[in-house]
Amino acid sequence: MPIYGAVEAGGTKWVCAVADEDGRVLATEVIPTTTPARTIPEAVRFFLGHDALAAIGVASFGPVDLDPGSPTYGHITATPKPGWANTDVVTPLRTALKVPVGFDTDVNGAALGEARHGAGRGLHTVAYVTVGTGIGMGAIVHGRPLHGQAHPEFGHIRVPHDIGRDPFAGCCPFHGDCLEGLASGEAMRQRWGRPAEQVEDAAAWRLEAEYLALAVLTLTYTLSPQRVIVGGGVAKHPSLIEEVRARVLDLAAGYPNDQAAMDAYLVGPSLGDLSGVTGAVELAREVSTP
Ligand code: ZN
Repeated sequence: MPIYGAVEAGGTKWVCAVADEDGRVLATEVIPTTTPARTIPEAVRFFLGHDALAAIGVASFGPVDLDPGSPTYGHITATPKPGWANTDVVTPLRTALKVPVGFDTDVNGAALGEARHGAGRGLHTVAYVTVGTGIGMGAIVHGRPLHGQAHPEFGHIRVPHDIGRDPFAGCCPFHGDCLEGLASGEAMRQRWGRPAEQVEDAAAWRLEAEYLALAVLTLTYTLSPQRVIVGGGVAKHPSLIEEVRARVLDLAAGYPNDQAAMDAYLVGPSLGDLSGVTGAVELAREVSTP
């Protein structure tokens, strides 16, 4: 029975796991994201402790190079995270472990995990939006992670910003008041002066729901996913998703207009914090079969 290795490579930690053919996780280890020279060998050490490894999947923070024809394929590219810009992640793992390495973005990984084993099971086209410190979106289209020239940068779409209602200028270093600049956990922290999980004011969450609803509606009209899954730390706020659903229907102005369909369409993740690592197992499975 082949064993698959998986890494959810985040900016603060690498969650490493091995799983069996059915995707059952057999062992995990959390490695802090310090420097590439320390973190990558630690991951190698974890995987060397497991026999019969058929392949590894890595779902990584980015931006990343996903073009198999590019000389920097498998690299984390222009990240602001100190020490990690232009880091080759795939080659050191492949060289040390002598197995194929699948590679994608962290959000495509989470989307793949949810699409195959979680809230998007049975559907072919699913979007996963994460609302945490930043905002990202991964999509599975006809069963495959969506790539284009690079990968979607949905967090940077522009959304209407009513300065009268929300005078906060936004916190995106590129755009100020793009979606991430207005609705990420970092934006909430800067606007309200405390972390999102400590914000209790209903108006603050109404504003958050407004931005997320605008984003979900854009996603609905452009990608036409069968389901939108909203995860990440900020999205754990009770009643947020319900509020976003209601606001999507308001903003859609009758197109679409079905509340019951909306309840099934816009949902939270069903794998909890395991969406990413589950997707990374699937990335390994993809490269292990010829
Ligand atoms: Zn931006």
